[in-house]
Amino acid sequence: METAPKKQIAILGSTGSIGTQALDVIAANDSLFEVYALTANNNVDLLIQQARKFKPEMVTIGNDLHYNKLKEALSDLPIKVFAGDESIAQVAEMQPIDIVLTAMVGYSGLKPTINAIKARKKIALANKETLVVAGELICELALKNNAAILPVDSEHSAIFQCLAGEGNNPIEKLILTASGGPFRTKSMHELEHVTSAQALKHPNWDMGAKITIDSASLMNKGFEIIEAKWLFGVSPDQIQVVVHPQSIIHSMVQFTDGSIKAQLGMPDMKLPIQYAFTYPDRLLTDFPRFDFDLCSQFTFERPDMERFRNLGFAYYAMERGGNMPCILNAANEVVVAAFLKDQIGFLQMSDIIEEALAKSEFIAKPTYDDYVDTDKNTRIITNDLIK
Ligand code: MN
Repeated sequence: METAPKKQIAILGSTGSIGTQALDVIAANDSLFEVYALTANNNVDLLIQQARKFKPEMVTIGNDLHYNKLKEALSDLPIKVFAGDESIAQVAEMQPIDIVLTAMVGYSGLKPTINAIKARKKIALANKETLVVAGELICELALKNNAAILPVDSEHSAIFQCLAGEGNNPIEKLILTASGGPFRTKSMHELEHVTSAQALKHPNWDMGAKITIDSASLMNKGFEIIEAKWLFGVSPDQIQVVVHPQSIIHSMVQFTDGSIKAQLGMPDMKLPIQYAFTYPDRLLTDFPRFDFDLCSQFTFERPDMERFRNLGFAYYAMERGGNMPCILNAANEVVVAAFLKDQIGFLQMSDIIEEALAKSEFIAKPTYDDYVDTDKNTRIITNDLIK
C-alpha cells in the first residue's frame, strides 16, 4: 500500500511557546509530518537546536544581527539560511509547504499570513493579532484563494470542534470561556499595585510573556472575541464571554434550538495545534486525560468590565470596525511592552489604550497600506502618551 506523503509544515515563530509545542507534536508523529521551514525573531540559539534536530529545508531569523551565527552553526547541514522580516514573509509562500503555522507574536504576523493565503496554504492560525488587525482583509483573501484558516487558539479550536458535523446549522451564540487570569479576584485597589512578575504567573496556561500579560488584563479575551467574529462570521452581540476559572471547558456553541455544545479537555495547547494539523481527523495521543474525580466542580462568572476595561474596548473596537481593532492592537502592544519594563502600572495600560483609541485617526474602510500606517501612527501616539 502506498503511504500518504508527509505534510510539509512551516512554523513561523518556532522558538515561542506554540512553536516549540508544535515541534513536539511533529516529533511524536514523524510519519505524518515534516518540518519544511522554521522561523524565529530573536532566539537564535534555540532555532539552531531545532534546525539541527528537525533538519528543515530552510530557516529564517528575523533579526539579521544573528544571521552569521545561524549560518555558521548550520554550515555542515544542507539547510538554507535567511534573515530579515521580508524573508519570513517569503518563506510562507514556498511551493512544497502544505500548512503554515502562524505562531509569531503580534502585528508581525500580518504580512506572512497574507502571503501564505495568497499562495493557497492551509493556515494553522495561532497569531490572533492577524485577525484582530485586519480580519476583514484576511477573510476576503482566504475566500478568494480558497485557503482554509484552522484555528489554533484553544477557544476557537473548541468552537471549531463543536461545529464539526453541523453543516449549515445557524449559530445563535458563541460562548467563549476565560480563565479570568491571575488577577481575577483582585480588587481595583490591589490592581493598582500588581507587578509584571505577578502578571506573568498564569494559573492554568503556560504561555509566552505578551499573551500572559494580555490574559491578565483580559485583552487576550478581547482579541479573541474579534478573532471569533471573523473566523465564524457572527455579529458582536452573538459573542458572550464567561469566566470559567478551571479552564476545562474551552468554549461553547449555542444553536438556534437552544442546544449548547462544549469542548472539554486539559489545558494543553498541543491538542488544538495537532487538531489544526490533522483536521478533520483525530490522532491517538498520550496527552494527560481530564479526570472528573479530581475536579468536583465547574464554576462560571460574568467578566468584570469595570476592573478589566480592555474587554469593553474590544467590544467597542469590534462594533466600530474599520481600523479601530488595528489601533487597539498597536496601542496594546506598546503598553504591554512598557508594563513588562515596569514603566507603567497595570491599570495605566487600559487608561493609555483608551486615550490612544480616541486620538488615532479612524478609517472606516482601510486598505492594507492603511493598516500599516495605522499600526505605525498608533505606536507613535501611544509611546507619546507613556512619556
Ligand atoms: Mn485562547
